[in-house]
Amino acid sequence: MADIPLKIHEADVVIVGSGGAGLSAAVQTGLAHLKTVIISEVFPTRSHTVSAQGGINAALANMDEDYWIWHMYDTVKGSDYVGDQDAIEYYTKNAPSTIYMLEHWGMPFSRTKEGRIYQRAFGGQTRNFGETLAHRSCAVADRSGHSLLHTLFERTLRSDIAPYVSYFSEYYALDMIRDDSGHVIGVVSWNMVDGGINIFFGKAVIFATGGNTRNYRTNTNAHINTGDGWSIAMRAGIPIEDPEYVQFHPTGIYTVGNLITEGVRGEGGYLLNSEGERFMKKYAPHVLDLASRDVVSRGMAQEIREGKGVGSKKDHMLLKLDHLGHDFIMDKLPGIWELAYKFTGIDCTKDPIPVEPTAHYHMGGIPTNRFAQVVIPEGDNHEKPVPGFYAAGECACVSLHGSNRLGCNSLLDLVVTGTQAGRQASKWILENDIELPTPPVEYLADKTAGGTIKKIQNLFDYEGSVRMDEILEKLRDSMSTNMGVFRTEDSIKRQLDVLADLRKKYKKVGIQDKGLSFNLDLIETLELGSLLDISLIGTTAALNRTESRGAHYRDDYPERNDKEWLEHTLTFLNNDKVDIKYKPVRMKPLTAPTFQPKKRVY
Ligand SMILES: Cc1cc2nc3c(=O)[nH]c(=O)nc-3n(C[C@H](O)[C@H](O)[C@H](O)COP(=O)(O)OP(=O)(O)OC[C@H]3O[C@@H](n4cnc5c(N)ncnc54)[C@H](O)[C@@H]3O)c2cc1C
Repeated sequence: MADIPLKIHEADVVIVGSGGAGLSAAVQTGLAHLKTVIISEVFPTRSHTVSAQGGINAALANMDEDYWIWHMYDTVKGSDYVGDQDAIEYYTKNAPSTIYMLEHWGMPFSRTKEGRIYQRAFGGQTRNFGETLAHRSCAVADRSGHSLLHTLFERTLRSDIAPYVSYFSEYYALDMIRDDSGHVIGVVSWNMVDGGINIFFGKAVIFATGGNTRNYRTNTNAHINTGDGWSIAMRAGIPIEDPEYVQFHPTGIYTVGNLITEGVRGEGGYLLNSEGERFMKKYAPHVLDLASRDVVSRGMAQEIREGKGVGSKKDHMLLKLDHLGHDFIMDKLPGIWELAYKFTGIDCTKDPIPVEPTAHYHMGGIPTNRFAQVVIPEGDNHEKPVPGFYAAGECACVSLHGSNRLGCNSLLDLVVTGTQAGRQASKWILENDIELPTPPVEYLADKTAGGTIKKIQNLFDYEGSVRMDEILEKLRDSMSTNMGVFRTEDSIKRQLDVLADLRKKYKKVGIQDKGLSFNLDLIETLELGSLLDISLIGTTAALNRTESRGAHYRDDYPERNDKEWLEHTLTFLNNDKVDIKYKPVRMKPLTAPTFQPKKRVY
C-alpha cells in the first residue's frame, strides 16, 4: 500500500472523547477562550452517554426531604468503603448546582405536578443514612443520557464557545505523547474517514474515552467501548486503578444484554424467579429489588445456581412491571417498552421481561485526584500529578465509585469531573508559560509518534495468520465464564491462561482490508488490542485481591477484609507483564466526618 499520509495540528487543549465528560470539559476550555480540539471515534451525540436511561442523582429534595450528606453516605457505603471520601463529598455537595446548571442550559427534565424536576428512586439511594428509600434520580423519562448529551453538545455550539472548539469526529486516538520531562503534549490519531495519521499537539490533554465492557459476551455497552483510553495511558507508563471491579447490571435483556434501566424497579417493578417468588427479600430484606447492583446481581446468580432460573436452560430471571399500568409505562418508561418489544417481542405492559446480569461498567480507571488531574505514584507520594494530563468520566477513577457504583451516579460524575478537567486544564495553561515544540515539524512527529506509525504500517504490510474475530469471540466467552459475578482462584487462573494464549495469537493478527478509508478491519483489530490489555490487568488484580468487596466477589474469600485490603490497586502493564502496587484510600472528607467502614446490608 501507499505511504500513510501524515498531518500535524496544534491546539491548547486536546480532548479525546465527546461523551458527557468530554463535552463538559470542552464547555469550560471554550469559555476560557482556549483553542480546543475534540477527537472522537464517533460524532458527539453518538457517544455511549446517549443511551443512559434512568437519570442523574442529586439531593434536590423535590419529592421528599433530602440532603447531600445522605447522598454522600450512600455513595461511600455503595463503594464498599473503598471510594475516596474527599472526592465523594465534593461531588455529592456539588450535585444540586450541577442539575440546576443543566436545567438552565435547557435539559428537558420530566416534571412533578408542581413543575419541579421529577426524581425517581434508584438502587442504594436512601434517606437518613439507610433508613428509607430516597427519590434522588433526576430523570428525563427514560432518555436521560440522550437529553444530557444533546444539552451539552448544544452548549458547545453557543456563540461564546463555538469559535474555540473544533470537532474531529471519526478520528481514532492511537497513542499519547509525553515529552522527556513526562509532560503530556499531544495525541496521535488515525483519520478514519480518509485514512492517515494525524498528530494533535496540545498544552494539555484530557481523556474522556468512556467505558470498556465489550470484553464480555453479554454487556450493555456500545461497540466503541473498548478500553482504548486505558490501554493508551498504560503504554505511556500510567497505571490503571482498581480494574478488578466490573459492575454487572442486574437487568440486561436475556442473551442480548441491552439495558433495562433500574428505573423500572425504582418505579415499582420487581424481579421473580421460576417459582414466581420475589427472591430479593432473601438478599436485601429492607429495600429488596432496590439494593445496590452488586447485591441484586449476586442474588440473581445465586437463584440460578440453586436451579430457580427461568426458561429451558434455567439461566435467567423475570422483570415484572405490567402492574404499573399501560399509561404509566408509556409516560415514564417508553424507551424500555420499545427495547423490550424490539429485542424480545414482549409487550411489557402485559408480560414480564426476561433479564440476566450483564457487564455494564468499570469502577476503576485512569487515577485522578478530585481536580481531575491524573496522578501516579512517585517515591512516597502516591498521587503525583502528571503535568498536562487530565481524565474524566467513566475512563477515570477519582475514586467516586470505589468497588461498586450506584445507579445514576455516573451521569453526575461526567458533568462534575468533566467540568473540573476543563477548568483545571485551562488554569494550568493560563498560569504556566507552556511552550509547545515549535514548529512541530515532521522530524518531531517521527521522534514522538514514530513507534505508532510503524505499528500501523506493519498492520498494512503484514498478511497475518490469525483473524481478530476468532480472538475476540474467545475473549468475550472466557471473560464471561471465568471473571463474572462470582470468581475463584481457579477461574481467575484459567482466565490468565486463556489471556496469555490470546495475547500470543494477537501478535500474529492481520487485517484483510488494506484501504485507507473507513477501514474498520484496522480499527476493530486495534480495539481488540485494548480489550486484551484491560482484561489482563483486571484479571491479574482480581487474583491478587483475596477478599470480596463490592462487585468483586470471590467464592473462595467471601468476606470483605478491611484489615488487609482497604486500599486501591494500581496496575502497570509492561508488554505482557502486569506489575501491581497499592495505595491508601482517602478516608478523610473535606468537611464531613469520615464514614467508617461497617458491614454493608440493604
Ligand atoms: C445502556 C447504559 C445506560 C446507562 N444508564 C445510566 C443512567 O441512567 N445513569 C447514570 O448515571 N449512568 C448510566 N450509565 C453509565 C453512563 O452512561 C456512562 O458511564 C457514561 O455515559 C460514560 O460517559 P463518558 O463521557 O465517560 O463516555 P462515553 O459517553 O462513552 O463517550 C466516550 C467517548 O470516547 C470516544 N473514544 C473512545 N475511544 C476512543 C479512541 N480510541 N479515539 C477517539 N475517541 C475515542 C468515543 O468516541 C466517545 O465519544 C449507563 C450506561 C449504559 C451503557
